Amino acid sequence: MSNVLDTLRFFRRKTGTFAQQHGETRQESRTWEDAYRARWQHDKVVRSTHGVNCTGSCSWKIYVKNGLITWETQQTDYPRTRPDLPNHEPRGCQRGASYSWYIYSANRLKYPKVRTHLLRLWREARTHLDPVQAWAQIVEHSTIPGSYKEKRGLGGFVRVEWDEVNEIIAAANVHTVRQYGPDRVVGFSPIPAMSMVSYAAGSRYLSLIGGVCLSFYDWY
Ligand code: SF4
Repeated sequence: MSNVLDTLRFFRRKTGTFAQQHGETRQESRTWEDAYRARWQHDKVVRSTHGVNCTGSCSWKIYVKNGLITWETQQTDYPRTRPDLPNHEPRGCQRGASYSWYIYSANRLKYPKVRTHLLRLWREARTHLDPVQAWAQIVEHSTIPGSYKEKRGLGGFVRVEWDEVNEIIAAANVHTVRQYGPDRVVGFSPIPAMSMVSYAAGSRYLSLIGGVCLSFYDWY
């Protein structure tokens, strides 16, 4: 029976009782239950972890359907370290368990963004100046820096291409090094335990230009 017919026959669904009339049998559509069954369907299980600025090393079973993560559970195949030590499984936190929701969240940041006001200033300056000169014109002006800094906290970010945002970052770094010295460029890179490549890329860059490398704890 369909849900529409069920609704029209609302008072005729009951077909009998049991348990001394504490329970009742019904004739009605149960197709809605398929939604729950489909929720846990999957094509394959792969091993992975989470890159969320933690140690990123808990092992998880990731259930995949049509190329999308549907859910995940903790792996339970860690090797025993010593026979007299208790089993430390399961391993993994609540953040990790809900991570598959993050991945497809509409709030997830996937592209670089710049405040509109600063971007307008940058594009205007870039029409007639090279990148470093354009940045210098913006930040060394007596009133322009205040005009974009006062927009902080008000939102107004727009999506930009990596090429453009990389050019802004590079120009800002070159200008700061040239004008104030390399130790005025201060940065931090991701926790080394999360990604050695990300950590090494950031700390190596800062070391090579003579900048200051903070740890991720300073950022917290
Ligand atoms: S389960 Fe938690 S601690 Fe472990 S990798 Fe995932 S987010 Fe990090």
